Amino acid sequence: MTALRQTLKSAADLADAGLISRPRAEEIAEVADRYAAAVTPAMAALIDPADAGDPIARQFIPDRRELDRHPAELSDPIGDDLKSPVPGLVHRYKDRVLVKLAAACAVYCRFCFRREMVGPGKAAALSESELANALDYIRAHPEIWEVILTGGDPLILSPRRIAQVTAALAEIPHVKILRWHTRVPVVAPERVTDALAAALRSAAKTVYVALHANHPRELTDPAREACARLIDAGLAMVSQTVLLKGVNDDAATLEALMRAFVETRIKPYYLHHGDLAPGTAHLRTTIGEGQALMRDLRRRLSGLALPTYVLDIPGAHGKVPVGPSYLYETENAAGYTVEDARGEAHAYEDCCAGPTATV
Ligand code: SF4
Repeated sequence: MTALRQTLKSAADLADAGLISRPRAEEIAEVADRYAAAVTPAMAALIDPADAGDPIARQFIPDRRELDRHPAELSDPIGDDLKSPVPGLVHRYKDRVLVKLAAACAVYCRFCFRREMVGPGKAAALSESELANALDYIRAHPEIWEVILTGGDPLILSPRRIAQVTAALAEIPHVKILRWHTRVPVVAPERVTDALAAALRSAAKTVYVALHANHPRELTDPAREACARLIDAGLAMVSQTVLLKGVNDDAATLEALMRAFVETRIKPYYLHHGDLAPGTAHLRTTIGEGQALMRDLRRRLSGLALPTYVLDIPGAHGKVPVGPSYLYETENAAGYTVEDARGEAHAYEDCCAGPTATV
């Protein structure tokens, strides 16, 4: 396939590019109308059209099953709207807020937990007045230590716009950390220019970039170079991965992905259990399957390369680690049973010197 120059945005585009057959394009046209579709040239180049189970295609090419909505699935799976005091801002945890700067993305992931809120037809970015209101809210809440810039994908905005946001947040004394959530360095690495890196950088604040990638093939040479450009500019990077059936739900794939992150100077941060986004049941694993994979990963990887497996509790209750657990209370004894990485159990006596005496 010759290299594409433009993002593919419809079922017909995907067929024209040879990524799917014409009958398949007819089958999924309705899905692409319902939920936004976009495949960048970088991701299209990774797809093997001859492989019916291609893990990159599975993430970006619409599937008929997306029209099947499970009764447990929710339009707002993690409850953003329940914790939104001003438009575009979510205040779920005391010391941090999300600012949803953009409602568009370079690609549209078929499992996206904000799929009802992103894509064409939605306001592409926060307006000036909405951004001003969000900044006023942050200024008025001294408990906000960290601001997470998200969307959509905020790195689709121009470096000029990003620099404005960085500068405005840099002037708020109680904000110490800026964290940008993005897929851009992987799905559109050509957008990660020196100008973008400079716009993200702040002399006054510590800036993290949280990179979303789900399969080791996504960490191409251009993607690794894009990440290096950000890190060499002084930004720290962590990763986020969504556990996806048929994409990365095997230990070897996750192991390769986590090693690729660490080799790129990115600390693996979260492995997300698939959210209850509408029409995504065919891409979700069970929590038990996720826990078994984490057990396997602990046997294979150093702590540096291990993410935390988390579930975002529906109803805006926040994220929690969901195991597996290696520690069990032992009945009728002051102790525990601890399981090692090989699955062998060991007794552990939980002892300490007791309370410090007061004079
Ligand atoms: S890039 Fe993020 S926000 Fe955009 S579709 Fe993918 S998961 Fe959703």
